[in-house]
Amino acid sequence: MSNSVHDVIIVGSGPAGYTAGIYAARADLNPIIFAGPQPGGQLTITTEVENFPGFPEGIQGPQLMDDMRKQVERFNAKVIFDVVGKVDFSQRPFRVWVNDEEYQSKTIIISTGASARLLGRDDESTLMGHGVSACATCDGFFYRDQEIAVVGGGDSALEEANFLTRFASKVTIIHRRDEFRGSKIMRERALANPKIEVAWNSVIEQIHDVEKKEVTGLTLKNVKTGAFSELPVTGVFIAIGHQPNTDLFVGQLEMDEAGYIINKERTMTSVAGVFAAGDVVDTVYRQAVTAAGMGCQAALDAERFLDG
Ligand code: NAP
Repeated sequence: MSNSVHDVIIVGSGPAGYTAGIYAARADLNPIIFAGPQPGGQLTITTEVENFPGFPEGIQGPQLMDDMRKQVERFNAKVIFDVVGKVDFSQRPFRVWVNDEEYQSKTIIISTGASARLLGRDDESTLMGHGVSACATCDGFFYRDQEIAVVGGGDSALEEANFLTRFASKVTIIHRRDEFRGSKIMRERALANPKIEVAWNSVIEQIHDVEKKEVTGLTLKNVKTGAFSELPVTGVFIAIGHQPNTDLFVGQLEMDEAGYIINKERTMTSVAGVFAAGDVVDTVYRQAVTAAGMGCQAALDAERFLDG
């Protein structure tokens, strides 16, 4: 156990966590940031970020997160590249365990973000990494001149489909309804892309070929007509949204039925002194810039809490 009681421990290192770190560090609170299993968060697996203010030409997601880390490290903040395994918010100071080491803190800021949601099918899990992927940025490169599919109808699916046309000869978006959920600009961009086709009202009935341990095609089912069809693809990208990374806090903090942490008063959770910011609480906006804004709010709220 490290014997000092910290002022602020930040769990998670996406835009919310790093921004909270910058504000807490500049307020002389010497925050510790545990970077978690995916340092830098979801932006490290995206390509071009065009909507974060201050970058007129856009910026690559990994670059943006690396810059945020450098910015927080300029001040008295310590980024620790490790994963918090257990927390106890039932007594003060709050306790956080990393491997076998215990850390104590007067306040906690949770910014653990969200993770890609999957279909939950056996063939999907068997073929994950063998033609099934949840990360176009990571795996798109492997599908040069091949025909592939993207599942989903939100901005993630539309963005990934567009991105994948850089490599693939054809991308079929498989969407379970007859209209996209994604934003107008992304919808238009996808529909105008000559390499993109859409299988409307369709779901995956089967991913072939589990025996061969590679993707050779999909059987689709039209949910309106019940008709089956074959789609010969060598890869399928699942882009159906995200779920909050809150397993660690079950039983300790109030959450909604989808597992998002509920903030009670501004960024303060159901436990006074524990704050939450970014995608881990945000069911509506889920943008890098809104996460960063909330990270700032959480750090200011923690600072006021410590003053009080
Ligand atoms: P989302 O908006 O929740 O969309 C998820 C999509 O997946 C929906 O079309 C949904 O279908 C479909 N889906 C969900 N579960 C499914 C299942 N089991 N089987 C088949 N389809 C399923 O998630 P998202 O696209 O990740 O976007 C999340 C947020 O991030 C949004 O606010 C979005 O604007 C934002 N975002 C923005 C950008 C950008 O601005 N560049 C990029 C990515 C994400 P239904 O439509 O039928 O529900």
